Amino acid sequence: MPPMQEPAPLVLTPIGVGTAYSRPGDVQSCYLVRTPGAAIVLDMGAGSLNRLQQEIAPEALDAIVISHGHPDHCIDLLALRVYFGFGPGRGHEVTVYAPEGVAERLMGFVGDGRWPGVAFVTLDRGEGSVELADGMTLSHREVPHLPPTNALRVDAGGRSLVFSADTGTADAVLPLAAGSDVLLCECSFGADPMPDDPALHLNATAAGELARRAKAGKLVLTHVYPEYDREDARAAAAQAFGGEVVIARQGEAVPV
Ligand SMILES: [Zn+2]
Repeated sequence: MPPMQEPAPLVLTPIGVGTAYSRPGDVQSCYLVRTPGAAIVLDMGAGSLNRLQQEIAPEALDAIVISHGHPDHCIDLLALRVYFGFGPGRGHEVTVYAPEGVAERLMGFVGDGRWPGVAFVTLDRGEGSVELADGMTLSHREVPHLPPTNALRVDAGGRSLVFSADTGTADAVLPLAAGSDVLLCECSFGADPMPDDPALHLNATAAGELARRAKAGKLVLTHVYPEYDREDARAAAAQAFGGEVVIARQGEAVPV
């Protein structure tokens, strides 16, 4: 008999790695994060509720965490509302942690103001942390993007995953990312140089340098716009990092 394998304490499964407009087949921002006893998702962009069901029933989620109010990171909460209100999720409830303003913004699409099955919790401005489930702790820190946008860190079983969210500077993510096992970092501009204007996003070199300064165990690149080659981005980030860099792929689990 083969030896019993211990389940990984923390596993990241990208559900959607796409951007505001995406490559054909890519779903917008959504990441499933699991421990042996709990499951959460980070972000719910367009298409993520459908794609998520290939991995888990939405009613089995312990929590949903939204990084910010851009539609490609939260718009499928509207699909979730119908799923929980009238569909298979009826009778279940999930807690959605989001920065201030996100629930109000989405409520604008909801005719009757009712949101069955979802309990919204507004995260503090600046930084903070909350217990999610089964020893899973969420820490968040505001980064320069659509205010307020939070970079997110999940700690469980002695392992740590950090998601940069969308961010205009790597510096703002560094305090959360320091010592993380896996850094899931946006790379909107691929291997291209950063634009001169104050940017709302990062390129591959900035992501790689962040991973190096944070002494991250592994860098996972995501949110690469379709104009940019993902392998070029991986190579540029690896040069700046000096460690392992992989491209986030939908459905390909990454043990943390
Ligand atoms: Zn954004």
